[in-house]
Amino acid sequence: MKKNEIYTAQIVDYTTEGSGICRIEGMAVFVPNTAVGDVADIRILKTAKNYAFGKIEELKVPSPDRIKPDCPVFDKCGGCTFRHISYDAELRFKQKRVYDALTRIGGIDGGLIGEIVPSPSDRAYRNKAQLPLSTDKDGNIRAGFFAPHSHRVIPLDGCALQAAPFDRATEAFLKWANEVRPSVYNENDHSGILRHLYLRYAEKTGELMVCIVANADKLPKEKELVGILRSELPELETVVLNINREKTNVITGKHCRSLFGNGYITDELCGLKFRISPLSFYQVNRSQAERLYGIAAEYASSDQCETLVDLYCGTGTIGLSMAHKVKNLIGVEIIPQAVEDAGKNAELNGISNAEFICADAAQAAAKLVERNIRPDCIILDPPRKGCDTELIGTVSQMQPERIVYVSCDPATLARDLKRFSEHGYYVRKAVPVDMFPRTGHVETVVLMTKCD
Ligand code: SAH
Repeated sequence: MKKNEIYTAQIVDYTTEGSGICRIEGMAVFVPNTAVGDVADIRILKTAKNYAFGKIEELKVPSPDRIKPDCPVFDKCGGCTFRHISYDAELRFKQKRVYDALTRIGGIDGGLIGEIVPSPSDRAYRNKAQLPLSTDKDGNIRAGFFAPHSHRVIPLDGCALQAAPFDRATEAFLKWANEVRPSVYNENDHSGILRHLYLRYAEKTGELMVCIVANADKLPKEKELVGILRSELPELETVVLNINREKTNVITGKHCRSLFGNGYITDELCGLKFRISPLSFYQVNRSQAERLYGIAAEYASSDQCETLVDLYCGTGTIGLSMAHKVKNLIGVEIIPQAVEDAGKNAELNGISNAEFICADAAQAAAKLVERNIRPDCIILDPPRKGCDTELIGTVSQMQPERIVYVSCDPATLARDLKRFSEHGYYVRKAVPVDMFPRTGHVETVVLMTKCD
């Protein structure tokens, strides 16, 4: 098989990221933006030893799952994976992704895995956008998304995933940017000021945050920026400058300065108020997060729960939503601003039985063992890389009655469930939850208990 050759083939499966797969001459060929069931002429773009990449040259027989993409930049932008298949077909893919990972890697009985919980909305659900800034050939500043596997900016044009005010917020920011013309950051030589436009929206309260990530301590004409944003955005609650002077792909720097307002917005989730600042994690799909937390609460609850430990707690949302059912809540989180928010969130909601620790989850868990804390239930909600092996040992050593694992990566989840089983904790039930419609990502909630 050589580059530029064209073969006719049928798409038979998806990769975990949602790219279509076909087999040509015994080799797996990955073809993005295709649907299982498509028969197409495929041009080979790149070959490796055991696999190749291709693109559709001509779609001969479309899959019955296909729909017309409702976004003009779907084939260029790296934001969505699935605007070309029905939401039902996407849910089937996600169910299978979780099922395959848990049964094949985790060795879990497939009968324990429930039906995926669809998102209440598959449009405009994202309450957070981090838009890279660039200039076009005429020197105009623009905001958008990176093209897949590249740092080329595709300008944003009515993005279907983003909260409604983000288009107006982007427009208002660009109005200032194109009047004042600060330099735009260039990652090759680390020159220029403007890096990202970072937007957050509290859907329930209607509060909007505009955060500008800059390679500088100060922006030119900050007052004018605040003036334009305030006059064009009635929802505006705060404007923040995030300073990122590092040579890095990490979007935000460690320091923020408020240019207007208090530097945070407040949203409501599960009947509680939550303060969200730029550096704190907050679930991007608010209404689906309520369902996710509802399932976690159902899995966590038993008649008697004295102590609940919420590891990787972010701003404390999951634990605080269950605080009224327990005697003591201990949350652990590594980002200092998130821990600060978690403490404020407890106060804001009149919760006085919560303690938040700023530390690495594994180290904090070891300290809890030293303090002789015996939680009845431990919640784990780690980032994609999953839990450290050491943490799995320590959590098991604490012998909670229940462990609830909320995961955003089925493969690391499956690996960790297998490790837990080696410590005597077994899966009782699991359910995939679609937090990120139209992308390849899927969340899973799992309940484990000890087998005596
Ligand atoms: N449970 C929260 C946050 C989940 S996201 C919610 O639902 O909102 C995962 C969180 O783990 C992030 O806030 C991240 O900052 C934190 N984190 C990442 N690595 C960590 C570590 N080693 N120890 C503790 N927290 C960590």
